[in-house]
Amino acid sequence: MIITLKRGSSAEETQRLIENIEKQGLEMHLISGENWNVFGVVGDTSVLDEKKIYGYSCVQEVCRVSAPYKLANRVFHPADSVVDVRGVRIGAHEKIVVIGGPCSVEEEESFMTSAQGVYEAGADMLRGGAYKPRTSPYAFQGRGKEGLDTLCHAREKYNMPVVTELMSINKIEEFIEKDIDMIQIGARNMQNFDLLKEVGKTRIPVLLKRGLSNTIEEWLMAAEYIMSEGNEKVILCERGIRTFEKYTRNTLDLSVIPIVKEHSHLPIIIDPSHATGHRQLVESMSLAAIAAGADGLIIETHHCPECAWSDGAQTVTPDQLKAIIAKGKAIAHVIGRRM
Ligand code: PEP
Ligand code: MN
Repeated sequence: MIITLKRGSSAEETQRLIENIEKQGLEMHLISGENWNVFGVVGDTSVLDEKKIYGYSCVQEVCRVSAPYKLANRVFHPADSVVDVRGVRIGAHEKIVVIGGPCSVEEEESFMTSAQGVYEAGADMLRGGAYKPRTSPYAFQGRGKEGLDTLCHAREKYNMPVVTELMSINKIEEFIEKDIDMIQIGARNMQNFDLLKEVGKTRIPVLLKRGLSNTIEEWLMAAEYIMSEGNEKVILCERGIRTFEKYTRNTLDLSVIPIVKEHSHLPIIIDPSHATGHRQLVESMSLAAIAAGADGLIIETHHCPECAWSDGAQTVTPDQLKAIIAKGKAIAHVIGRRM
């Protein structure tokens, strides 16, 4: 970190700044120039808060040289991380994973039919929300605990690990009791810091979606929250961000794949369903994501999308999922991966 001092700043205040920073275990190296005095701060600067440093009136500018996240940072962990979700390995040079399933866990019979379709299409994992974050309080809110039971029945029948969204701390015991394989933290909860800390205390893999309006740095700081509690099993998921564009539900930012891979060792998967909002865009965006280096895809799939209880417009059929996997394998081969 570089701290530039204002011209003519008082020696006493500069001394207070030096003492405050050194007290936190860092070294302050002064570089005296003709016009400006600059401090190079050496040590673990992730403990420093720029805004607090600006609180000293002698400070002109604070510039971070290294990222504020440590555990998620590739600098301190050069090798790609692999997260094992009940035997399905995600990240590094492992097989590109496909997670399929309806938006919501519906009634037993319907969900089982969709799960069978997802299994036969060749997916590796099953998704379905038992607790749903809906924009309207009048919309279907999910089947809750019964939905988790249905999800677990499908897991047993088709031997596929499951991922489902946790919206509130007070449901975490249910997730532990049901032995849920991967907890999804949805876009709307990416900065629910208490929830992040709570899943960080478990050792259950976490699928961390990017918030609707969050920067990559904020997203990696959210991962840092989970990891700093001891749970290093974090998988990032890009699901599109809010922009002015109306032809798609969100704007899919595929550039995050190489960017995240440069800055972090964590696996990253793409959700082309929520990113686009339209079934006909899901295949092309899935293939583009694979080409760009994604470690997996999470695709909303239903045996009858028009009857789906939520997000039918962006939901593909098992046949369409199968076609995406077939084409995806060809793209994966070109970039030296398997799917
Ligand atoms: C979902 O996966 O069903 C979901 C609600 O996703 P997001 O948090 O990305 O909107
Ligand atoms: Mn959905």
